[in-house]
Amino acid sequence: MNRYVIDQKALEGNIATVIKHCDVPVIGVVKANGYGVGLEAFASTLKAHGVKTFAITELSDIEPLKGVLSRDDDILMMRSTALSDELDAIVSADCVASIGSCTSVRALDEAAQRAGKHARCHIKVDTGFGRYGFFPDQMDEIASVFTLPNVDVQGIYTHFARAYGDEAYTKAQLAAFMGVVEDLKARGLDPGCVHAANSPALYNFPETTLDAVRIGSAFLGRVITQADTDLERIGYLETEVIDIKDFPCGWEMGYGGVEKLKRPTKVAFAGAGQREGVGLQPLVAPDMRSVLSKLKRLGKHPLEATINGHAYLVLGEPDLSLCLLDVTGSDVSIGDKVVFDPNPLMVPASVSREYI
Ligand SMILES: *Cc1c(COP(=O)(O)O)cnc(C)c1O
Repeated sequence: MNRYVIDQKALEGNIATVIKHCDVPVIGVVKANGYGVGLEAFASTLKAHGVKTFAITELSDIEPLKGVLSRDDDILMMRSTALSDELDAIVSADCVASIGSCTSVRALDEAAQRAGKHARCHIKVDTGFGRYGFFPDQMDEIASVFTLPNVDVQGIYTHFARAYGDEAYTKAQLAAFMGVVEDLKARGLDPGCVHAANSPALYNFPETTLDAVRIGSAFLGRVITQADTDLERIGYLETEVIDIKDFPCGWEMGYGGVEKLKRPTKVAFAGAGQREGVGLQPLVAPDMRSVLSKLKRLGKHPLEATINGHAYLVLGEPDLSLCLLDVTGSDVSIGDKVVFDPNPLMVPASVSREYI
């Protein structure tokens, strides 16, 4: 039976470490099923440590999240939308919308009017991520958000594209963002809570901390930082050895024969593969050589598994539903537990999450 095991104590340790590290409020990012460790479990643990604002990207997260939050906790919907049915849902759930265009803010104003309420929003500025948001030179459009009768601006934010280590790019994004904030203030407009840092920015560029930080991956101990942190990786995928087979020297393994055995090899078949997220990493740009080497440094080699405390290499590419491990010379046997370290984001919901 495959399961993704999460160490609750280690998760709580990371949360406490992050909160201690920053002296401003932490917005807990719980998108993508709480980064794969379970939306409700993750959010309630964050809440127990004093987090009061939770950021999501999917409307379907609102209802389960409300089940674990108090009335005075806030939900920030980070995905800007101009769809009126989505905005109706955001307004009726009293979530804080993210506004990245004149179209979306007009639609939000109309949704608020339909509901007979004021809608709360944070303005999103695209300083170089290339996603939702006003461009920094759209100052008149950004200022016009403050004129809408049914919309209350409570914050403004941007998102870093290269905070894992590109200092010049990150500083340029921060400068463009602060330019927008200063311009609004010069116009007599109060942007509210000003926030920018995600996990890598918090650790690599402390000057991005501002009024609040939006943190997700650091809680899981999976943030790419320049310096070492006290954060711990909190989970692992557990499967078992489903069979063992001896292969002769020279045998070619898998599609395309990507691996030709250089010696007689004892192979253990582990019952998890790409379908369970093994060997998959969240998307990183192909030119990020330093990032990839850091990803490797961050933990085990992505194509290794651990059995009885020993690491074994995956032969060839992970299959859809199994991996071949070189266990030559070991006493590994059928039924032994196999531990992989995929990013939990890539582990599908069909694999049960178990907290220990
Ligand atoms: C995912 C996300 C975050 C959190 O990023 P981490 O690096 O996981 O801390 C913050 N802000 C936005 C807009 C995001 O999409």
